Amino acid sequence: MAQATRFDLAIVGGGMVGASLARAASRIGLRTLVIEASEGAENAAAYDDRAIALARGSEQILQSLGVWGELEKESAPIRQVHVSDRGRFGFVRISAAEYGLNALGHVASGRALGRALFGGLERLPGVTLLRPARLVRFIDRPDAVELVVMQQRQERILQCALLAAADGARSPVRQQLGIAATDWAYGQHALIANLTVSAPARGVAYERFTDSGPMAMLPMVDGRYAMVWTLDDAAVEAAMALSDGDFLARVQRRFGMRLGRFTAAAPRSLYPLKLVRAKRQGRGRVLLIGNAAHAVHPITGQGFNLGIRDVAVLADLLFEARRDDKDPGNAELCRAYAQARERDQRELALITDGLVRLFTSPLLPVRAARDIGLTALDNLPWAKALVAQRFMGFGGRQPRPARGIPFPPTPVARTVKTTEHTENTER
Ligand SMILES: Cc1cc2nc3c(=O)[nH]c(=O)nc-3n(C[C@H](O)[C@H](O)[C@H](O)COP(=O)(O)OP(=O)(O)OC[C@H]3O[C@@H](n4cnc5c(N)ncnc54)[C@H](O)[C@@H]3O)c2cc1C
Repeated sequence: MAQATRFDLAIVGGGMVGASLARAASRIGLRTLVIEASEGAENAAAYDDRAIALARGSEQILQSLGVWGELEKESAPIRQVHVSDRGRFGFVRISAAEYGLNALGHVASGRALGRALFGGLERLPGVTLLRPARLVRFIDRPDAVELVVMQQRQERILQCALLAAADGARSPVRQQLGIAATDWAYGQHALIANLTVSAPARGVAYERFTDSGPMAMLPMVDGRYAMVWTLDDAAVEAAMALSDGDFLARVQRRFGMRLGRFTAAAPRSLYPLKLVRAKRQGRGRVLLIGNAAHAVHPITGQGFNLGIRDVAVLADLLFEARRDDKDPGNAELCRAYAQARERDQRELALITDGLVRLFTSPLLPVRAARDIGLTALDNLPWAKALVAQRFMGFGGRQPRPARGIPFPPTPVARTVKTTEHTENTER
């Protein structure tokens, strides 16, 4: 069968965000091309051992993509979040029950997300997966984007009406577009390790602020805990060099006995931490989504939750364009996407960055202020409800997928309608 060379939508990057968009596009009936650079049986770099806290709002989006049913079986519910400051008095507890809910969210492993989102992508109606393949460059023309893709040392020229760049925080597409970005290294790494504990508190997630950096413990489906420990760059090498026994003893001293004894640790991995925020959402027929537009510190576990909200909004706009037989890359759609996503991304980047600064400051007045803040929050139901609402991923425009409304399955169209972009709108 001859390969189609013209697509409604091309997605660069098959990580969590790109794969989610491809699933939505298939349901909408778009002819979709996914270009993913990684090799091997799985997309192992994008779907690794890290644990991902999924906000309730994200679960609804995953539900509308048809993957939540299976993923839920492999995920641990978060029924309570417990935030405390080591050696100080401030703490806050947020419980799902206070809001009449069963869970505030769930924790899934990166690998489970890989199976749910990336697995079988190439078999979805309308989806063509090129892998391993790399987008080398592109030309954004008024009526289409021309793509130069390298696969098996051969260059292929393909076309699409809309290009979604889900190519990660370093985003080569963002660079080729010449879009500037805030790119701020925190001088910290996240050290992650999955830990076995003697007294698991099922359903409770912990965020503990310690003098050597915040430490999150997320419950896993197998009873273990996924630790995310933020350490200054200077402390990282020593923590990685510790024997398992010394490492567990150190974690125990920092975290305390809330989960009993830490008895075993899986291999540790490191991630350099950065704040990346693109100054624009795209240009012409190209849009940035997920980490390509914004990468945030994992202190609040919100990076993918923010990215999947990009997907929900874009999918909703693409659904309307398909329903009304419009060009999927039309200028109005691109503008509407940029307007709809700006506020959520800006606010979350500000909140996350503020929390990092507040909770990693060693200054006594700052520590005192945050204790007072945590205690006040614990005693102010309305303030707590606002925080809970935000971290469950609700608020702002709620597109169809975020309300759990699936797109009616639509057959893949044979022709792609296009219009000319007459202006290169600043977004
Ligand atoms: C330690 C840690 C803990 C985290 N915890 C949470 C959490 O609890 N909750 C949460 O919501 N988020 C969390 N996050 C954030 C989350 O992991 C990211 O937001 C998410 O993985 C970003 O996905 P993405 O698809 O945008 O980008 P990526 O995962 O970076 O994927 C980009 C993809 O693009 C491909 N690519 C790049 N260039 C090209 C090219 N030219 N051609 C073809 N393919 C290309 C790459 O191979 C890759 O597969 C955490 C992050 C870290 C580091």
